[in-house]
Amino acid sequence: MSKVYFIENTGSDHDKLGEDAAILLMTLAQDSGFVFEKEVPIKVHFGERGNKTFIPARCYDGTIEYLKKKGVSPSYIETNVLYRGSRTTTEKHIETARYHGFTQIPIIIADGDIGTEYDEITINKEFIKKCRIGKGYGRFNQFIVMSHFKGHIAAGFGGALKQLAMGFASRSGKLEQHSGISPVINAEKCISCGICAEKCNYDAIEIENTAIIDDEKCIGCAGCIAVCPVGAISNTWGGSNFLEKLSEYAYGAAKDKDNIYITFVHNITKECDCAGMEMEPIADDIGVLASTDPVALDAACLDLVQKQSGKKHFDEGRPSLEHAEKIGLGKMDYDLITIKI
Ligand code: SF4
Ligand code: SF4
Repeated sequence: MSKVYFIENTGSDHDKLGEDAAILLMTLAQDSGFVFEKEVPIKVHFGERGNKTFIPARCYDGTIEYLKKKGVSPSYIETNVLYRGSRTTTEKHIETARYHGFTQIPIIIADGDIGTEYDEITINKEFIKKCRIGKGYGRFNQFIVMSHFKGHIAAGFGGALKQLAMGFASRSGKLEQHSGISPVINAEKCISCGICAEKCNYDAIEIENTAIIDDEKCIGCAGCIAVCPVGAISNTWGGSNFLEKLSEYAYGAAKDKDNIYITFVHNITKECDCAGMEMEPIADDIGVLASTDPVALDAACLDLVQKQSGKKHFDEGRPSLEHAEKIGLGKMDYDLITIKI
């Protein structure tokens, strides 16, 4: 059984959240005898432009301060995103990060200027044999993987596993996880307005009598689902093994690394921080959790959200945890240790 440390939410003060994260890091490092190396990047998500519910830069101050006091040199680390947006290239990505206040420490975009630089990590699992992980990650043995727990259209929820799987993968690694998950068009609903074809960055939609998706070109970004004004486009995630691929990529990203995982269960939105729009939380804030086991951490976050809300939020993502446990990434059983401050 893995240990998961928890500080219950006491308000929406971002400085307080940052302090809680630092307390968890300190407690976990002490309890597990963690020995920090000289350079330890912090894996984060800088938030898409227009998104207001990503974890703000101030929430990382406590962690940065703690690492510096320990003589560790921290940096932020990320990879470029698959779709066209404000974080598609390194230049734009860093611009967005700075705009969102991530100015405290250097920023490393690990997969090169346009997301094409990666190392192959051999895992030989059921769906993925070799993971394409952003080249910049290879220089380091340890990461503080800091995540925002919230919903995700394909993964069910986004937490530590998704931060590893998508967040460490180069663009082609992200594509490999997403491939084979084209949405479907309901021809009876489609009014042939063409908005989806305009939105699609991959020219994967033709408008004839109705919209038609070319499965060869579609990368499953789901952008068209969001823009259709009549709800004629929906997912067919079943059969794509996306959740299993996600778990296997998370396994590849964490392989031979010595990581600490910290997750903010705060501003719990239906969609992820890649959505460049304002969203209202769908559940109350829970707090901050940490573990050396990303599977146990995600399981604890999911359980707490469901318990507190009394709803089965994000349950469609649970199979990713089951698969992650099956392949040896971590355990779904956990011992929740609440820290009172
Ligand atoms: S999911 Fe839709 S918008 Fe995205 S690539 Fe496929 S057809 Fe294009
Ligand atoms: S946006 Fe919706 S209604 Fe318009 S063409 Fe695409 S599928 Fe049809």
